[in-house]
Amino acid sequence: MKNNWLRKTIRSFEPYVVPEIREHTVINANESPYNIFDFPKVKEDFLARLAKTPSYHYPDPFAEELRAALAKYVGCKADEVLVGNGGDEIISLIMNTFLDPGDTLLTHTPTFDIYGIDAEVLGAKVITVPDLDGYRRDRDAFLAKIKEVQPKVTVLCNPNNPTGELLPLDYVEALLKAADNLVVIDEAYLEFAGAPSIITKLSEYDNLIVIRTLSKAFGLAGCRVGYGVAQKEVIDALGLTKLVYNLNILSQDAALAAMDYADEILAHNVPPTIAARQRFCEVLAEVPNLTVYPSATNFVLVRVPDGPAMVEALHQADICVRSYKAADLKNCLRITITTDDVAQKVAAVMKEEAAKDA
Ligand code: PMP
Repeated sequence: MKNNWLRKTIRSFEPYVVPEIREHTVINANESPYNIFDFPKVKEDFLARLAKTPSYHYPDPFAEELRAALAKYVGCKADEVLVGNGGDEIISLIMNTFLDPGDTLLTHTPTFDIYGIDAEVLGAKVITVPDLDGYRRDRDAFLAKIKEVQPKVTVLCNPNNPTGELLPLDYVEALLKAADNLVVIDEAYLEFAGAPSIITKLSEYDNLIVIRTLSKAFGLAGCRVGYGVAQKEVIDALGLTKLVYNLNILSQDAALAAMDYADEILAHNVPPTIAARQRFCEVLAEVPNLTVYPSATNFVLVRVPDGPAMVEALHQADICVRSYKAADLKNCLRITITTDDVAQKVAAVMKEEAAKDA
């Protein structure tokens, strides 16, 4: 194939290679250890829905029943929700709907790569504000950049992936007030933060879009269900670029079953993760060579003396974690917190390996 067949904006892109996973404990993608189909009532609910699902019909384009259930869960109106094939689809819809070539996307770094990639595909310019030491967002610089540039789209990941930091709602509101254009707040991990969502202020901000997902706290990563929340006009605009039948019927059934038992699922899945995260951080904080960054999510970022050696030590213990090529995450590992026993096993391996560098 001729390289010039490709859009100009993607000719220098490297293929996205997901490395082969050989380990059995896989804690590299912030997945939940809990399966909704292990909850007997959820499984029964899903199967009952499935029995009534006609495979020959296209799915409901706006997943009306599911958007109503999600709206109830987050406390907004059904027409303020758009359901997508994962939060990833909502991110891409936002970029496709609002960014022209040459427009500016503002975000902070390090953060979730997809925003920048989607914007670059469209020929938009990506501006990033680097974190301060200790992976704390540079709040003043970020706010100042919004005022200076008035980017077409601003993205704040809250809590942030991969650093775990949560910023307070009054800061998020300051961003929304400063921006003339859209501000995307990615709350994929909010359920683990024990903090209120900016959705509580939705009626006050016509430039707010919130990204949420069932992949994390609800453990539905394999079903690919995410959603965007915004005022109706913005949701309607996102609908302009959406594939008509974007979310398949099986995923809609699974998500509806999960929403029917949302309280039970969260009560089961979230507190043990938070407790395991806390204990993991406490144990590693005692290890002289490691820097543990506080996290409001289901993962923890840890800086180690020698990243590749630590990845290898964990591999030897049959554990796969996330490491990074980016210079600003050198020697950092992102460890998904699943169960306490797994977290403690990881901590023991890391402690032993770090002692070698003492
Ligand atoms: N936002 C953030 C910050 C994420 O980390 C992820 C998943 N890793 C997503 C959005 C998208 O999640 P999904 O497509 O699984 O809903």
